[in-house]
Amino acid sequence: MKFAKQLLSLRNHLCLEGLKDSVLPYKYWKKYIKYHKNDMNPDEIVNTLEKQCKDAEENFVKELSHTLKKKPLIGCCKIDNKIQQDISHELILFSDINRTALYKICKKLQKNGAPNLMNYYSKASFKFIQSHELMYLKMKIESQHECPICMEEANSYIIMDCSHYMCLTCMLKMTNTEKLNATPYNKVSIGIHKFESCPFCRRKHPLKQLDKYHFYPSIPKS
Ligand SMILES: [Zn+2]
Ligand SMILES: [Zn+2]
Repeated sequence: MKFAKQLLSLRNHLCLEGLKDSVLPYKYWKKYIKYHKNDMNPDEIVNTLEKQCKDAEENFVKELSHTLKKKPLIGCCKIDNKIQQDISHELILFSDINRTALYKICKKLQKNGAPNLMNYYSKASFKFIQSHELMYLKMKIESQHECPICMEEANSYIIMDCSHYMCLTCMLKMTNTEKLNATPYNKVSIGIHKFESCPFCRRKHPLKQLDKYHFYPSIPKS
């Protein structure tokens, strides 16, 4: 199936209006390319794309925080059971389709003469692309988790801003904080300053300001 059609059909599975309205307009960009083939304005492109992504991000974050607080904004209306069961799935679908849409839009624009758009894509850090809140939500609806470092199933995980995660034990070992006389939360708070880059994607300082969604399933107390 062509991507535009696929996108439209997936978009139709969204029932939250805010999400539905802020799916990135792939068709708009296809048209844009058609009419601006030989006069691409990179600044204008990036500005417009940035605005569309910010709009998507704003709606995504709004619904995400309502969902994580277990207070859905509105009751989900009738929806195809086979595909979407609840708002969490809907948010994950929204994230997936927008990430793919942004990738395809940037690739197409670059192919048609707009410079550096793939660079823009690879640096994009909108929360619908990657965020610890999104990973928290994904972990919440999946049943099993394994620490990618020690391969053990753990009781507590720490999720980094880049959405990679590891078990709390591995995190404490890595930051040499496991032997401190403090609660795990305080050990992590001390450790984040020593945690210079994510071991998976090398993102610098992948833990800046801890909030409760950095800890799955919850902030450890003892
Ligand atoms: Zn581990
Ligand atoms: Zn990472």
